[in-house]
Amino acid sequence: MAHRPGRVTLGYIGVLAGALVAAIIAGWTPLANRIDGSAYDWMFQLQPPAPWEPSSVILAIDEDTLAHSGGMRRLRTELAAGLRRVSTANPKAVAIDLILSDEADAGEDDALEAAFRATPNLVLGSDLIPDSSRWEEPLPRFRKYAAAVGHVHADPDPICRALVLYKVAGHDRRWAISLEAFRLAEGAQQIIESPDSLQVGRVSIPVRRADAALQIRYSAPQAGARSGIPEVSLLRLNQDAALAKRFRNKAVFVGATALSQARDRLMTPYQVTMSGVEIHAQAYETMAHGVFFEPASNVALIGFCVAIAAGAGIVFYYFTGYPAYALGVLLLALAHTVPHIAFARGVVFPYLAPVLAAWLSVVGAAAWMYFVVRRQLRKSESDKARYQQAIHFVTHEMRSPLTAIQGSSELMGRYSLNDEKRKQMANMINSESKRLARMIQTFLDIERLTDGQSDIRLEVFESQPVLEACLQRAQPLAERKQIELRTEEISSFSLTGDRELLEYAVYNLLTNAIKYSPAETVVVIRCIGQGQTLRLSVSDQGIGMDDKELRNIFKKFYRTKKAETSGEVGTGIGLSIVDQIITHHHGHIEVTSTPGKGSCFTIVLPRGAASEQASASKTFSN
Ligand code: ADP
Repeated sequence: MAHRPGRVTLGYIGVLAGALVAAIIAGWTPLANRIDGSAYDWMFQLQPPAPWEPSSVILAIDEDTLAHSGGMRRLRTELAAGLRRVSTANPKAVAIDLILSDEADAGEDDALEAAFRATPNLVLGSDLIPDSSRWEEPLPRFRKYAAAVGHVHADPDPICRALVLYKVAGHDRRWAISLEAFRLAEGAQQIIESPDSLQVGRVSIPVRRADAALQIRYSAPQAGARSGIPEVSLLRLNQDAALAKRFRNKAVFVGATALSQARDRLMTPYQVTMSGVEIHAQAYETMAHGVFFEPASNVALIGFCVAIAAGAGIVFYYFTGYPAYALGVLLLALAHTVPHIAFARGVVFPYLAPVLAAWLSVVGAAAWMYFVVRRQLRKSESDKARYQQAIHFVTHEMRSPLTAIQGSSELMGRYSLNDEKRKQMANMINSESKRLARMIQTFLDIERLTDGQSDIRLEVFESQPVLEACLQRAQPLAERKQIELRTEEISSFSLTGDRELLEYAVYNLLTNAIKYSPAETVVVIRCIGQGQTLRLSVSDQGIGMDDKELRNIFKKFYRTKKAETSGEVGTGIGLSIVDQIITHHHGHIEVTSTPGKGSCFTIVLPRGAASEQASASKTFSN
């Protein structure tokens, strides 16, 4: 486990939060609904329920029955005969999925009425007329023998996954015939409603009052019965009385299964179509066997999405490379499998939102970390290269006094020199070694400053001698380029601070002005007082800088393009050190510059004792 360098940035958290919000919003769209529906069907096919002993039988008005009775209208006699046989078997309930609202041949209706009278727990069907304003009722003569009248609707959406347990026309509400049949079979007087369930006898059916949708747990299709529920043809029952025993203790669902008649053939999650009567029988089975599905709560769904996104964030924060990717894949697998696991436990979990949350957050976190790490790597590599360059330069600088010392001492040892020459050489060795010591001291001081140790030496000194020393040291450089170092308005002020460091700062500005100016130009130095401050400025007629460059010159190792191509040796650390030195002296630097025209660097320092002055700042303009 490798801890990431750096901290969790707001950007990283933002990416994860964005992924999460996008996934949750997407999960509420109609397209997501369709995808979730398809995933539901797929899980249905992958995880069919264990077979159970059916509690219902379908008395089917099939093609043969219709052919024999010559159509639906003359069916009532056949139906009456069939029902009489069914009632001898003592069924638990008989639900008729037919709308018997029209009068037929009187003899036929008489026969059917008589059969209904003999049928226990009879449930008749009623239909909402298309504008939902009222019910199309069974004839009163039939209705009076019905223990209940229910609705026969089964709605596709476009696949019939659920049955709406009640429908309303005006103030007249009807339960589904399957629910009424179940109530009667349970021997319950009424159905007790609560916001999340319906209580029928001892059975609690988990449906929300808001939509009253019962997810149907279709039994797996079996050989011989498309729906897994046994079917007896009405015609065959009438031909063979022995078939009646099949209805013993079962709920009987009577309706059209003939392809030509069943106007409401609906697609089911198993990708087979069923008629309305079969769907009601399936809903009955779901209730009778208590194999309910419950929709997952929104809290559980959002909680899971949040956990997945947080997981992705943690994985890519604490792990790198293959372990991170492997854990990312694991998270994706989890998001894909949790809906399956929930399904196996009877909880319907939306599929798209968690899967999308997982993909977006894993990809987002991985991409973020990849680019951030790459950027950090690039930055540290270029910092390293610049640092090496700086070290190279420093050692190179130190070599010149060393070479002078070496050369002089060698000469002194090898040849017998006259006194004057010897004295000259000894002086040279002395001054060069002092220069070397000063150089080392300065670099050590700089290191100290860079490390953030702010304790600087505090001595009181005059500004003028410092400036003169710098000018003297810079003079040979200026002469080499025939640059005039012109002093104007020089006043002296007393300062408190680290003389060596301030000298380094001024000298640096002077050498920069010389380095970045063409030959035969003028560098003007001023030192004036303004209020309680001293303003020491160095202005040149050199290459100058634009706004963007000005904003960067105080950064360590930064050099402008023009400086790089000028042929002047440099490291880009000088100004960053000058800035730190001045800051430590409670001052600031002002820079004005125009590309091609020249620059002016002004050191602004508090005069007198270096007391607790306002903290440093820089201002730029050009
Ligand atoms: P160096 O001179 O070693 O490159 P510095 O830190 O002293 O580093 O300066 C940083 C950069 O600022 C220089 O590389 C140069 O691009 C720019 N710069 C500094 N002083 C001047 C100046 N007087 N005129 C133009 N550019 C300057």
